[in-house]
Amino acid sequence: MRCNKAQEYLGLDLDGVLPPDATVQLTSHLDGCSECREFREDLLMGQRVLKATEPELPENFDWKLQLRLNQRSGLEQHLNSHFQRYKYVSFSHYYTPDLS
Ligand SMILES: [Zn+2]
Repeated sequence: MRCNKAQEYLGLDLDGVLPPDATVQLTSHLDGCSECREFREDLLMGQRVLKATEPELPENFDWKLQLRLNQRSGLEQHLNSHFQRYKYVSFSHYYTPDLS
């Protein structure tokens, strides 16, 4: 397995969506690749940082109103896409390789 594949798998593993057979391949790659082990440590550290800095909804967020209007599923989709985007931005911020 190439390192870029292994690191893609590491991201999936962190999200808990890596299939078991891929997990086996990933584990054997990590056994022989210190670079990817370090990448994994960085990911885990970044995940802890993210958990500590999860955004609060703005004070004026009218979710209660929207719930009353019976738009719950639409609201949940909106929130999911909002947090997906936030997570993506944060991850690329934390995990951009330092090329200097
Ligand atoms: Zn590797």
